[in-house]
Amino acid sequence: MSIADNLQHIKATLPQHVTLVAVSKTKPNADLVEAYEAGQRIFGENKIQEMSQKWEDLPKDIEWHMIGHVQTNKVKYMAPFVHLVHGVDSFKLLKEINKQAKKNDRVIKCLLQIHIAEETTKFGLDSDELFTIIASDDFNALENIQVIGLMGMATFTDNKEQVRKEFRCLKTIFDELQRKIEGITTLSMGMSGDYKLAIEEGSTMVRIGSSIFGSR
Ligand SMILES: *Cc1c(COP(=O)(O)O)cnc(C)c1O
Repeated sequence: MSIADNLQHIKATLPQHVTLVAVSKTKPNADLVEAYEAGQRIFGENKIQEMSQKWEDLPKDIEWHMIGHVQTNKVKYMAPFVHLVHGVDSFKLLKEINKQAKKNDRVIKCLLQIHIAEETTKFGLDSDELFTIIASDDFNALENIQVIGLMGMATFTDNKEQVRKEFRCLKTIFDELQRKIEGITTLSMGMSGDYKLAIEEGSTMVRIGSSIFGSR
């Protein structure tokens, strides 16, 4: 199946309230152009340098989403154009994004990443850290970032009940966050292997790579 066929097939199964981020990391520009010509405008990358190069090369109406782990010293390279940063996992990073957004006279949208998986290798805050951050005066003083929701990655396992449980836990935290601050709209959870489950558990944004572009 072609990239356009894959996209069409996936989009046909997504409810209207779920946004598709086409994860194009490691893929050549030609693959992104094929998806673009099939109507896709939202792309996700996990390396700032690669995303910046693609931003330079490709049409300017693409929305670039940073889905990977972000090093503070690289924020400046994406600040002029990034649309949404999914993996914000510390207050220090949020402060740096705010600083670089300000330099570019922008407000950058962010998702806070919550650690839900069993593996200790996946990044993210726990719910106590999240609620401490959003209750602080320092957080509320940041004018050039806008936190619009949460992101999480489930454990890499065939055990569907475990994955479901982790997504459900993230959704519970999301609901609590929505009650505490304004403007919380986006719950980024679900990848090629688990996005259907994620949508059943309340995802509003799925990040799909290999099911669109093939394996990496
Ligand atoms: C690579 C990646 C994805 C996409 O994974 P697929 O299994 O190829 O769909 C989603 N989210 C993050 C954070 C990723 O790094």
